[in-house]
Amino acid sequence: MEQSYQELIRRLREVETLRAASRLLSWDQETYMPPRAQARRAEQLALLSELAHRRFTDQAVGALLAELPEDAVRERLGAEAAANVRETAREYARATRLPPDFVAELARTTSLAHQAWVEARGRADFERFAPHLERVVALKRQEAELLGYEEEIYDALLEEYEPGARAAQIAPMLAGLREVLVPIVQKATAAAGGGWQPAAAFAVQAQQQLCRRLAELMGFDFTAGRLDVSAHPFCTGIDTGDVRLTTRYHEHDVADALFGVMHEVGHGLYEQGLDPEHFGTPMGSACSTGIHESQSRLWENQIGRSRAFWKYFLPVLRETFPEATAGLELEEWYRRINRVRPSLIRVEADEVTYNLHILLRFEIERELLAARIGVSELPALWNRKMEEYLGLAPPDDAQGVLQDVHWSFGGIGYFPTYTLGNLYAAQIFAAMRRELGNLEAQLERGELSEIRAWLREKIHRRGMLLRAHELLAEVTGEPPSARAFTEYIQSKFGELYG
Ligand code: ZN
Repeated sequence: MEQSYQELIRRLREVETLRAASRLLSWDQETYMPPRAQARRAEQLALLSELAHRRFTDQAVGALLAELPEDAVRERLGAEAAANVRETAREYARATRLPPDFVAELARTTSLAHQAWVEARGRADFERFAPHLERVVALKRQEAELLGYEEEIYDALLEEYEPGARAAQIAPMLAGLREVLVPIVQKATAAAGGGWQPAAAFAVQAQQQLCRRLAELMGFDFTAGRLDVSAHPFCTGIDTGDVRLTTRYHEHDVADALFGVMHEVGHGLYEQGLDPEHFGTPMGSACSTGIHESQSRLWENQIGRSRAFWKYFLPVLRETFPEATAGLELEEWYRRINRVRPSLIRVEADEVTYNLHILLRFEIERELLAARIGVSELPALWNRKMEEYLGLAPPDDAQGVLQDVHWSFGGIGYFPTYTLGNLYAAQIFAAMRRELGNLEAQLERGELSEIRAWLREKIHRRGMLLRAHELLAEVTGEPPSARAFTEYIQSKFGELYG
């Protein structure tokens, strides 16, 4: 058994090494790649991903897994080895249930759909995207049927991002959020004044230095990572010793870069905090997309948008930009970074309205996949829900149903993980606050190392040992729910907006 297990791990590490090379090429594509490299880069990525897929779905992997039943492995080799075979078997089953022809057709269809989406969004022309989306949805339905599910078809796709989660469990949590959030949005919007405006521009070079300093303060290890610039901020972990972050800089707004960095460093600390001993295996991988997002949201929101942290960091900001921040007081800045106002675009939304954007998408894609609605109904349905949840009417589809890239690449089932991340972040932060006791005082002094160490021990190092809901229950003492998040939102924004 030991020998079979070691052989399985060896094979997994080879697959992961191919995938790491792909991630590095993708990172390069988003940052420094010259435009004429495009066509060859697509071929490089396609070949690497095909090689990784073939190696992973090799019959030898299936044969090894058959010799390694989870319970027997747990008894003989321990819980970590058991988690490795459990999660590998899960991924292997998913990967081998899709015939190669189907995978190729999906890749072709989504590649064309993505191009059509870029054009359609540019012209605010949904009709141009609709036939492509029809095909994507049809293939995703087929994929879900091939993968199988117990309760509803949506679960088969959700499983890709949040193993073990079910739409029927998520739906009431999200719907409950709506009841809490909509009145807060209404009050906050009514109370929103003009607010603070910078008195001068924020020089980009100084912003870059400040962002690096902030990342270091949070504990990001620059000997095992980088911070660069891209159109849309992201984090990609090549491995624990090489984690690439990006952000973007605007001269008129320093907050975009700072909060972008806090978010991506939250992801980056997770990637750097995975156990290098477990490289290439589920034990060396993040638990789920929702848990990953909880790490970025916790640093960006619970810590980054707290009054306590800015007691420490506002003087640093003021010292870096004395002209732009002339006369800026803590309370003004605190209100500025916690402004709530309904907006049309999800990626620009604040902490409160963000989840309403997600609720709308989750409801729509769940109905779409279950064939209870058709693609042609999407624009009208989208606009009706925007009006209902946020009181806004998109002037065109580019600012409405066409704004997100996800459906064009077949990423149905991804959206709910954003809100799960918000809920998990609040629940984890509440538990951390109970355990560390003097969290507020630490933030006020800019001492973040205990927080990072706590997250590393409780979350990062655990890899995929537990499923997200089990990890949450163990770390916080409660199953996942919206309770901690609604308490956090009500207390913070109740104080701000009465
Ligand atoms: Zn994120």
